[in-house]
Amino acid sequence: MKIVMAAAECAPFAKAGGLADVLGALPKELSRLGHEITVIIPKYSLIADKYMSEFVLKETMEIVFKGQQKTFRVFEYEQAGVNYLFMEYDDYFKRDQIYGQSDDAERYVFFNRTVLEIVQQRKLDPDVIHVHDWHTAAIPFLLKEDSRYESIKSAKTVLTIHNLQFQGKYSKKTFLENFEMDARYYDGGLVEWDGHFNSLKTGIFYADKVTTVSPTYRDEILTDFYGEKLNSFLQEKEQDLIGILNGIDLEVYNPAADLSIAREFDVMSMEGKQVNKRAIQLKAGLPERGDVPLLTMISRLSGQKGIDVLQEMLPDLLTNEDVQFVLLGSGEEQYETFFKELDIDFPGQVSINIGFDEAFAHLLYAGADIFLMPSHFEPCGLSQLISMRYGTVPVANKTGGLKDTVIEYDENLKSGNGFLSDFSKDESFDSALQRCLTFYQQSDHWEAIKKNGMKGDYSWSRSAAEYAELYKRLI
Ligand code: ADP
Repeated sequence: MKIVMAAAECAPFAKAGGLADVLGALPKELSRLGHEITVIIPKYSLIADKYMSEFVLKETMEIVFKGQQKTFRVFEYEQAGVNYLFMEYDDYFKRDQIYGQSDDAERYVFFNRTVLEIVQQRKLDPDVIHVHDWHTAAIPFLLKEDSRYESIKSAKTVLTIHNLQFQGKYSKKTFLENFEMDARYYDGGLVEWDGHFNSLKTGIFYADKVTTVSPTYRDEILTDFYGEKLNSFLQEKEQDLIGILNGIDLEVYNPAADLSIAREFDVMSMEGKQVNKRAIQLKAGLPERGDVPLLTMISRLSGQKGIDVLQEMLPDLLTNEDVQFVLLGSGEEQYETFFKELDIDFPGQVSINIGFDEAFAHLLYAGADIFLMPSHFEPCGLSQLISMRYGTVPVANKTGGLKDTVIEYDENLKSGNGFLSDFSKDESFDSALQRCLTFYQQSDHWEAIKKNGMKGDYSWSRSAAEYAELYKRLI
């Protein structure tokens, strides 16, 4: 099958979170299955030179956008059987960050238009156009309703929701200005929800199939609690809504061949893990001790990730227990401030690293003992999978993809790969962590938990086959 994927992020070129990991891995796996895959993303100026210098300029194209003629360029890059196309338009994508700009709505509508333009002008003739999250969710709408794309209307569309919280909502005026489509789409409620233009809702309405990234999250988003005010609408599309669990890229995340870590290791010989732990302690300015549990968290610092749970818990934990804690993340100011204060209050025990650092993230996955994921909701979550791949034990809230991938350790059977707090039973995150710390002190159990995690199958092969099956059914 010929598949075109469009998204705002794709590893290793431009990454803010798990969306990039998925775009970095799923296309490669689909290509391995024999399909023809083109991935289209914006050519952000923040893409590393080592990639950018390999891009080949292919075409210059023009569109009329907001009443003006705009010229954009298309660059190509081949890797692992995947054809990557980068859409260059500096006014929108020569920025310091991927998101968080006041004109994000306009930037991504423009991108959506250029994606369809590229598909049409290049005669890519896809069987399926697969879009991801709100940034590209309006593509199925434009494909079906915009008369400029007549020649590619037969393509089927799939929308994957990686996070229902981000919907791309803006005013009717912004909708009319950016899309230059008839007001009836808004007034008739096709693209409107709750008094706004809503990109994600538009995608859910127009896409032929909608997927999300774990079976549990698929069920959760139909409820009031997790539905982000879209659940009643999602219920109408329930038949077309499918949960397919994410995997991770086993080549990128491989403790036996990872150039970003201090010493490689695998499940048969784990000594390297201790070397990585000491490398973290050295880098973080913490006492170099093998016996102390090293806790870590690598995350966007947002409400979703349960930072409030750590605000409640960490000061007491650090006072009462002999543990070290290393954070790598950035996000909301209130949380960054909390962590910076924690750094001051617990010198020699805590290391707070504000920022985005791919190489340090790998070292932390490799050398830490315990990974904290107190998320209030988690569509899939990749950090727990990466942790387990590196023998780092996740402690997580029992929600979404965490529930589908973390299995509570059973000391009788020596089965399971982590610890879950069940908040439906009012169990606190701290009690799950305390269970974990108890087993940390019992080396035979600890070895079993780590190894169970490392032996898990987190590959994309099964999930990619599910996507391929879905495309096949559609066409
Ligand atoms: P989300 O997509 O909600 O942010 P996921 O767990 O699905 O969460 O994926 C997060 C991805 O981003 C993981 O690959 C994680 O290692 C990476 N990541 C998050 N924050 C940072 C950071 N500050 N530095 C490096 N990598 C990070």
